[in-house]
Amino acid sequence: MRKKTLRDIEIAGRKILMRVDFNVPLTKDGDIADDTRIRAALESIDFAAKKGASVILMSHLGRPKGAVDPALSLKVVAYRLGELISHPVRFIEACIGEEVEKKAASLAPGEVLLLENVRFYEGETKNDQVFARQLARLGDCFSNDAFGTAHRAHASTEGVAHLFDDRVAGFLMERELEVLEGLLAEPERPFVAVLGGAKVSGKIGLVKNLLDRVDRIVIGGGMAYTFFKAVGLEVGRSLVDEEYIPLCRELMEKAGSGKERQIFLPVDCIVASEADNDVPHKTVSTGDIPEDWIGVDIGEKTIEVFKEELVRARTVFWNGPMGIFEMPNYAGGTRKIAKVIADITEEGVMTVVGGGDSVAALNQLHLADKVTHVSTGGGASLELLEGKKLPGVEVLNDSG
Ligand code: AMP
Repeated sequence: MRKKTLRDIEIAGRKILMRVDFNVPLTKDGDIADDTRIRAALESIDFAAKKGASVILMSHLGRPKGAVDPALSLKVVAYRLGELISHPVRFIEACIGEEVEKKAASLAPGEVLLLENVRFYEGETKNDQVFARQLARLGDCFSNDAFGTAHRAHASTEGVAHLFDDRVAGFLMERELEVLEGLLAEPERPFVAVLGGAKVSGKIGLVKNLLDRVDRIVIGGGMAYTFFKAVGLEVGRSLVDEEYIPLCRELMEKAGSGKERQIFLPVDCIVASEADNDVPHKTVSTGDIPEDWIGVDIGEKTIEVFKEELVRARTVFWNGPMGIFEMPNYAGGTRKIAKVIADITEEGVMTVVGGGDSVAALNQLHLADKVTHVSTGGGASLELLEGKKLPGVEVLNDSG
């Protein structure tokens, strides 16, 4: 179901309470290490301010667990935001209360007010109704542009939205939904999913849901080893989620075998004596992993097999690194797959990358702008593709 957006409601002269995702990484000194998330919200903020709305922004930053933590104040973000947009930006060191209400009420059209970190309040993650009502007093309509937290039913993402007649998606949210729901609804085929990362536990729901929707799933990273174990292969001391072995076995059976099989696992991998960059390592065929060794990356033959599937695809979704890519000796698989995905994008393939570590790998290689869409919300994009409803999206007005 499509959601209404900022374009669909009258906003001139109104006060928009807007949830954004300003959860930026900070340096040790408390500076902003990467302002991508602030930039990603600019389109919605600028649109609303230009139309003559006053914009009251709320966001979380880090995990202060319901108490004030000066190191996680959004003040530093307010400064940066002020540098990035031409509208006046104010900041207030609270989210609720008389002072905040006064300040919000006094905003002129086109002015922007950023509230303090919503997670300084216990009521935020508890989706507390009283806290939500206090937030709601600040605006007369609501917009959610924080796709990255849309899978959480928190006061500023879900609770507060119920209290407005007009509750619409921002433009970042709109684009994320369009792309990710499009993958589930009508992908151009063949549709290939590339999955990796550490544990199978976090991705098994995704494998399950995608099996019914994609043509192929190629699996690398730590999660491959639970699948190997499920089909009876020795994996040494590689990462295995014992409790998921039966489910992996079931999924492997469902995926079939032979040329038409849906799940492709690595045919070779790099193994190391420890999960450490500077220890002996070598490439072995899957099935020949020595007892004491650990699988740390996919091997060259696997890269070729995966590449063959990728160059045939018309749609690709990628989540999770192919190995322990933080260690240079085991980053090769992830880097090469990232490069293939960037190359096929140039050939017209729709490529969507979701999730922190695959995005980090793309950034390292300066390839983030060489894919069709990079999702800003790791957890949210996975839950959506698992077929789950996102509370922060469900609550928004349906369009038409
Ligand atoms: P995730 O958050 O589930 O996408 O996992 C990302 C993490 O998976 C990264 O920190 C990688 O180092 C890790 N990872 C990838 N491959 C392996 C592997 N073979 N063994 C252990 N960890 C891995």
